[in-house]
Amino acid sequence: MSVPFADLRAQYLSIKEEMDAAIADVIDNTAFIRTPIITEFEHGFAEMMSAKHCIGVANGTDAIYIVLKMLGIGQGDEVITVANSWISSSEVITQAGAKPVFADIEPGYFTIDPADIERKITPATKAIIPVHLTGHPAQIDQIMEIAERHGLFVIEDCAQSHFATLNGQLAGTFGVASTFSFYPGKNLGAYGDAGGILTNDDALAEKCRMYANHGALIKHQHHMEGINSRLDGLQAAVLKVKLGHILKWTEQRQFWAKAYATALEGIEEIELPAVRPGAEHVYHLYMIRAQDRDGLQTFLDARGIQTVIHYPTPLPFLPAYSYLGHSREDFPVAAAYQDAILSLPFFPEMNQEMIDYVAESIRTYYR
Ligand SMILES: *Cc1c(COP(=O)(O)O)cnc(C)c1O
Repeated sequence: MSVPFADLRAQYLSIKEEMDAAIADVIDNTAFIRTPIITEFEHGFAEMMSAKHCIGVANGTDAIYIVLKMLGIGQGDEVITVANSWISSSEVITQAGAKPVFADIEPGYFTIDPADIERKITPATKAIIPVHLTGHPAQIDQIMEIAERHGLFVIEDCAQSHFATLNGQLAGTFGVASTFSFYPGKNLGAYGDAGGILTNDDALAEKCRMYANHGALIKHQHHMEGINSRLDGLQAAVLKVKLGHILKWTEQRQFWAKAYATALEGIEEIELPAVRPGAEHVYHLYMIRAQDRDGLQTFLDARGIQTVIHYPTPLPFLPAYSYLGHSREDFPVAAAYQDAILSLPFFPEMNQEMIDYVAESIRTYYR
């Protein structure tokens, strides 16, 4: 038996007819750029996310960059983000001309530690980019309170957290704006690169839309210089089809997370993903912490079980940030978790046999 880390093909086959028709329609109409299907997806997503505006862009990285630029963040400013994330969360800060400042993760969770945010705030701090990593909401209510007290913007990186909630409120509706990736492997994934920005701020929405389209809302009327970062018609059509299924897929993820928890019960060498009180986890990843992680990963691999580490090196310890001069003591929790975290195979279309095989293999390894 083999268990892939994810299976995008299984999902495609489950909606093949509907998807093929939607894609064929776009091609038949040669409706590739700035066409109604894009607006239809934007409205659909915004409505489901209880947000006023959705701006489709080319990818989730650009989404953060565009928001930072349109909030006027740049040279001389500092932006705080989390030590354990994908590099998009920090590289966009540098791209905008500002300085990335890292905060550690909370013990027990994989999200930014509000107490460390507070310690990292200086007069130059302008914004905080929390990441709802793995689909588990960061302590966003506390983060909003800190931000309000210090007059900072909060931009939520929701690349892994479509439809997660904290205290009944959707992750992505707390900050001034939130950014989404629709990379194929994300919970809501296109068939190529795609991303989106959500905000309730009319002026910010208009600026972001303009900036993502060469500084123009209407062709040839450039109010500023911008970039080319558009959601295209094919990806919008794919995403619109998937919007009709995403809540069911999210429930399936939650179902398999429970199944893993049951199957993995009592293995003392591993820690299962914790869910904070009041949070609804959407399990983009099922990330455990394991003793002798590398040995376990090799053992699972030999049994045909694919696992991934998110991420092998915390951002501040990457060569890209060596100029900041950080050491492991600066981010003790991220440093400690670095050698323990492991994401198990996880996707809505998995089955009990796979769960049992993974769990039994982990049990066997430690026996
Ligand atoms: C995937 C991801 C992004 C970037 O998304 P792209 O669409 O690949 O540019 C940003 N932040 C996090 C946390 C991600 O996982």
